[in-house]
Amino acid sequence: MTQLSVGKEVLSYCNKCKLTLAHIIVTMKSETTIGKVQCKTCQGTHAYKDPSAVKASKTKRGKNVGSKTKKTTQNSISDIWLEKVASATSKSQKYSIKTKFELNDIIDHPKFGPGIVDKLIDADKVQVIFRHDIKTLIHNK
Ligand SMILES: [Zn+2]
Repeated sequence: MTQLSVGKEVLSYCNKCKLTLAHIIVTMKSETTIGKVQCKTCQGTHAYKDPSAVKASKTKRGKNVGSKTKKTTQNSISDIWLEKVASATSKSQKYSIKTKFELNDIIDHPKFGPGIVDKLIDADKVQVIFRHDIKTLIHNK
């Protein structure tokens, strides 16, 4: 094994160049541990980074991502309602059986409160999301 010492060339990972490149040892922590190195490409001085250690930590992180992801619980109706109402651009309209509602229209229902048209089921039926329930309402009569 080659003796490590100040002034010798060593392979280190460079954060600036984002590559494993030849570096010059600037300082030594101990006889066998490199302290700081200078990149021969960008001339930057930084702590020595073992290229094999950099690779290993990256692989580990990648594997952990999948195992940490939990199954997301299904959104409750009020969550969907809140999201839809917040993103809606149309003005709220009083509910009437005679009014023709379009997709994403906000309906002000006397019994169920504000709702948003989620689906046009039929020429005279719409699916409306209210805060606590999804209802099919008759319209366009
Ligand atoms: Zn560099």
